[in-house]
Amino acid sequence: MAIKIYIDQGHNPSGPNTGAEGNGLKEQDVTYIVGRYLYDLLSSNPNFEAKLSRQNSSVILGTNNSTSLRTRVNDANRWGADYFISIHTNGSVNPAGNGTEAYVYQSTGEAFTLAKLIVDAITYRMGTQNRGVFARPGLYVLRKTAMPAVLVELAFISNYDDAIKLRDDPYGFAFAIYQGILQFFGV
Ligand SMILES: [Zn+2]
Repeated sequence: MAIKIYIDQGHNPSGPNTGAEGNGLKEQDVTYIVGRYLYDLLSSNPNFEAKLSRQNSSVILGTNNSTSLRTRVNDANRWGADYFISIHTNGSVNPAGNGTEAYVYQSTGEAFTLAKLIVDAITYRMGTQNRGVFARPGLYVLRKTAMPAVLVELAFISNYDDAIKLRDDPYGFAFAIYQGILQFFGV
């Protein structure tokens, strides 16, 4: 049986729950396309079955911030996902802040191992700073998902060098996440 991986592209294109902006980029546009590339990579591998939270770029999930998050989590739970990956870009008022990090519900177990492999793969491929993996039990999408869940912050949209990488090579970020997943499952 294929391993079911739910890919949440983090934010809406407009309306509630839009993402961060910086250096002429919108987080929700970056996460949409990275998620779509990751979906294509996983779908081309018979070991996996993937599902996107935003199946096209105009989909708006929920009517406010909390229902937007709930819609994504409920969709993954209902689908019976085996793993949940939420894709984001980081933002800071300090333009020097940069790098890749991920959040998980707790610092042990499958999600933590998967998150570390994904962060390591992104930093290796994209040349971003490795900030590590942190427990963030308060995050809704980590707390309410019924399966191991990883929230990955690809890079800082507010940092010029990171933003250029997000703009110029979204496929590279997606491929690195894919490589992390392959390493996790040993396939
Ligand atoms: Zn975000």
